[in-house]
Amino acid sequence: MQGKIYLVATPIGNLEDITLRAIKILKEVDIIVAEDTRQTLKLLNHLEISKPMISFHRHSQEERKIEIIEKVKQGKNIALVSDAGTPIISDPGEEIVLKAIEEKIEIIPIPGPCALITGLIASGIDAKEFLFLGFLPLNKKTRKEKLNTIKNAKQTTIIYEAPHKLLQTLKDLQEITKERKIVLARELTKIHEEYITGTAKELADKEKEPKGEFVIIIDKNSEEEQNIFENMNLEEHYKYYENLRL
Ligand code: SAM
Repeated sequence: MQGKIYLVATPIGNLEDITLRAIKILKEVDIIVAEDTRQTLKLLNHLEISKPMISFHRHSQEERKIEIIEKVKQGKNIALVSDAGTPIISDPGEEIVLKAIEEKIEIIPIPGPCALITGLIASGIDAKEFLFLGFLPLNKKTRKEKLNTIKNAKQTTIIYEAPHKLLQTLKDLQEITKERKIVLARELTKIHEEYITGTAKELADKEKEPKGEFVIIIDKNSEEEQNIFENMNLEEHYKYYENLRL
């Protein structure tokens, strides 16, 4: 009988942020497929779990994916983890999931920490509707397209960014978001956890030498909404709210 693949979320900082179910699965599986085995070893040591590990990262070759799938077909249960948080989300593993679906292998997600959700819920920015864009691309054309999406977004946008690229990203955001509110959620769940709020310019002025990990949460573009109100007379204003109540 073939095995199963568990997609196991691991902590994004605080090692206590791991579910009972995740620990149980990590103890039970035959093999752990990790993005960086040294990083995962720290977590396993903390949990006092000893397991064979295979690495699978963004530069892994096709053969590694086949090797992992073959092991599952031979009956091994596998847990796939990334260095931090929820695997697949801006992390490797999607190819394994696609191949497993093709091979009719059962995939079981074990939910847990994810930086974008953790940052969003404490940001004070509208969490009813949001758009997650991962890391902004470096390629000029695609980066411009993504920035344009943020510019026009009618919902909150969330992006990830590395500290050494934060200032450039804030500079790019400054041009398109102007006075919109942005929250930098820094070092989530860690000792230096912090939420810094301001416009892109204010944040760039504050963060001269960014350190740590950041989630960037950007308020929606409500310009259109403001323009609607500016051009309404009192009666239209009244009708607008009447309609909202219907
Ligand atoms: N799979 C992960 C998740 O579930 O959030 C994301 C992995 S992605 C390669 C790493 C990026 O996530 C970082 O550059 C940062 O933007 C964000 N991130 C991860 N951990 C974080 C933390 N503790 N505080 C703030 N941002 C974090």
